[in-house]
Amino acid sequence: MTVRLRPVLSSLPAYVPGRSAPGAIKLASNENPYGPLPHVLDRMVEAASGSNRYPDTNSTELMYALADKYQVPAERVVLGCGSVSLCQQLVLASAGAGDEVLFAWRSFEAYPIVTLIGGASPVQVPLSEQTHDLTAMAEAITERTRLIFVCNPNNPTGTVVRGGALTEFLDRVPSDVLVVLDEAYREFVTDVAVVDGLSLLDRYPNLIVLRTFSKAYGLAGLRVGYGIAADPAVITAVRQTQTPFTVTSVAQAAALASLEEVAEKQLAERVAELVGERRRVLDELQALGYAVPESQANFVWLPEGPSGHGGIDAMAFAAGCEQRGLLVRGFAGSGVRVTVSTGAENDRLLEAARELRG
Ligand code: PMP
Repeated sequence: MTVRLRPVLSSLPAYVPGRSAPGAIKLASNENPYGPLPHVLDRMVEAASGSNRYPDTNSTELMYALADKYQVPAERVVLGCGSVSLCQQLVLASAGAGDEVLFAWRSFEAYPIVTLIGGASPVQVPLSEQTHDLTAMAEAITERTRLIFVCNPNNPTGTVVRGGALTEFLDRVPSDVLVVLDEAYREFVTDVAVVDGLSLLDRYPNLIVLRTFSKAYGLAGLRVGYGIAADPAVITAVRQTQTPFTVTSVAQAAALASLEEVAEKQLAERVAELVGERRRVLDELQALGYAVPESQANFVWLPEGPSGHGGIDAMAFAAGCEQRGLLVRGFAGSGVRVTVSTGAENDRLLEAARELRG
């Protein structure tokens, strides 16, 4: 007899992490190309010397620092082992067998996985012109919908939903359905028409905004993300579904150090540089004839399609990049996502794109 496991596991899509290879340039995981700031690293080392002790399971100091930064009560802030963990906890807290979790597709790969792990059913609403189709999403809400993910900017397309469209959508969502606004890439947004999700919390009691230290803050390897909810009851539910001690002491110390004024300033300069590089990469890819949508994140998206219309064969393009020492993220039949990196690494990408365009 073999061990009896949950049948859902055999139908679970695998989370495919961006690959690494010795010597290759990794542009596959939307990482920040820059390592932790020196003083952040110092604080990590200091925290590591206390590793014989368990961490503060509620990341209290960090929770208060974020509450202070965003001027919200601390009871509306929760930390998690990356924001992906918060996505999973929110599903576990709100949906189960027979319930539906609604999101756009293609979007962040973890959404269907965490939904199925929670025992709920994913409902995927196709993107329209590489962007969330909020009208179709509102129409897809049923009595069984318990949670809706809105990924803004969207991973992997980099596209955004703007203020009016988002609030119109939120107005249509029943107030007992949880809306998770995933703003993992918020710090890279420069389009002023994209509303800051935190400004909507006063208006929508069913809303939680997720952010992370993995991208703009460059701490992906440490695993720390956070949620800010309109309703403290949602925060309590997230805590109830948390594995104890998931945010390590080192991660808490690094995140806290990153919130200090000097660090924020230096990190913002890095973000501004990446945003400038994003413009350059987008312009050059578009000039080469690639049908690349405007991106508000730290990555760009090359859609699958006939080359006469600026499209690519995603897996062939990804393989072509790999032959040139660049690891990008190909989604078969859908497109390729490439992280915006340093000027020199972006040059390598653009060179490959020029050659592959033929
Ligand atoms: N949300 C989105 C949209 C993402 O792209 C990612 C990372 N790829 C995450 C959440 C999770 O980030 P982390 O768990 O590192 O905070």
